[in-house]
Amino acid sequence: MKEFFAKFGAAVRAHKGRTVAICVTAFVLICAIVTLSCLGAFVFNRFATGYVPTDEDLALINNNVANQYDRVVIIGVDGTGKYPGEMLDDDPYSLPNFKKVFVDGFTTAGGTRLNASVTYSGIAVYPTISAQNWTSMFRGVRPPYHGITGSSSNKDLSNGKQPNEKYPSFIKVFLDANPTAKVFSSCTWDAVNNGAIEDLANVVKYNTTCEDVYKIANDEEIEGLADPDTKEFIKNATEGNSTADPDYFLRDMITVQRVIEATTSAEGKSAYKIAYMHLNQVDSAGHSYGYNKHAYARAVARVDDLIGRIYDAYEAEGMLDNTLFIYCTDHGHRYLQDGTGHGGNSNVEVKVTFAIAGKTVKQGTSGKYVNTDLAPIVAYALGVKAADSWQGRVPYGMFTLLG
Ligand SMILES: [Zn+2]
Repeated sequence: MKEFFAKFGAAVRAHKGRTVAICVTAFVLICAIVTLSCLGAFVFNRFATGYVPTDEDLALINNNVANQYDRVVIIGVDGTGKYPGEMLDDDPYSLPNFKKVFVDGFTTAGGTRLNASVTYSGIAVYPTISAQNWTSMFRGVRPPYHGITGSSSNKDLSNGKQPNEKYPSFIKVFLDANPTAKVFSSCTWDAVNNGAIEDLANVVKYNTTCEDVYKIANDEEIEGLADPDTKEFIKNATEGNSTADPDYFLRDMITVQRVIEATTSAEGKSAYKIAYMHLNQVDSAGHSYGYNKHAYARAVARVDDLIGRIYDAYEAEGMLDNTLFIYCTDHGHRYLQDGTGHGGNSNVEVKVTFAIAGKTVKQGTSGKYVNTDLAPIVAYALGVKAADSWQGRVPYGMFTLLG
C-alpha cells in the first residue's frame, strides 16, 4: 500500500501540469452535473406536476354556466393516508358512500353525471405532520415557505400562529375575487381554522369541542346546530357503537351536521361557495391503535357514514348537480409494529388519498397529486386564478376542460 502511494506521488510530481488539468476538468464536470440536476429538479417541481390554468382556461368556466359550480364541499379527513383504497370492498367495513361518490361517480335525479377521480398514491409534504401538511394544502406551498415547521408546529398552528402571508389560502384568493361570497369552515381539530385559514370577514368558522358534545348530551343549546332531530340523532349515536374514541366520533358528527345545516339552509344554499369540514377520528384511532388495525378501519367506515349523510342531505335539497366534492387527507399512519403515530417517510405515512367528484371532473385517476395541489385545484374549479406564489398545480387529467 505504502509503495502504491509512493509511486502515485512520484507520478503526480512527474506530470504536475496534466494532474492539475484533470482535477480542474473533474471539478468543472461535477459542478455542471450538480447545476443541471438542481435545475432539472426545479423545473420538474415547478412545471411538470400539472397545469397552471391560463386566462383562456378560466374563461371556459367563467363564460359558461354549465361549467360552473354553486359550491365546493371539502371533506378533510385527518390521518387517513392511502387506507380507503385498501378497504373499498372489505366487508363488513366497505365504504359504500365513498365508493359511490368518489370512485364510481353517479348520476343525479336531475340527470347530471358527476364523474369521480381518485388516487391513493398522492404524496404528503415532508415531514408527515398534520399542521405542516394542512397548511401546505391550504396555502399551496411546502412547509419551508409557509413557515409552519418544527416539532411544535401542531401546537403553534392550534394556538394561532399565522403562516407567511405571502402565500394566501385558496379561501382568501377566492374571496378576493368574489367579495360577496361566503365560506363555511367547521373543524374538529381547531388548528386549520386558527392558523391555516386567515381570519376573514366572510368566513364563518366553528371549532367543535368536547363542550359541544356535553351540551348535546344534556339537551343544551349549541351554536350552529338548531335542528332538534339532528341533535337527538347525535345524542343517541353512541348507543351500541363501541368506538375507539367516542369523543372524536361525536365531535366529527357535530362538525359535519353544522356544515349540512348551514349549507342547506335557504340562505346558505346560495351564499356558501366553499364548505370545509375537518374530521379527526381516523387520526385519533391511528395514534391509539396504528395503521390498518380494527379500530382504524372502523373510524374510516364511520367517516363513510358521514359522507352518506352529506350526500343524502344534498340529494333531498336537489343540490348534488352543481356541487364539487373533494375528499383529502394530510398523511397516513405507521404500522403498529413500528410504534403508532406519523411524521416519518414510510410508504403508509407518505401516501395519501385524494378524491374529487363533479360534473367537470374526468372519470378515473389523474396524474401525480401532491398535497400542495389542493389550493390550485379548488381555485381552478371555481374559475379563479391561482396565486403566483403557489407551488401546487392542477394535476394532469383531473378536469375535462384542462388538457
Ligand atoms: Zn394529521
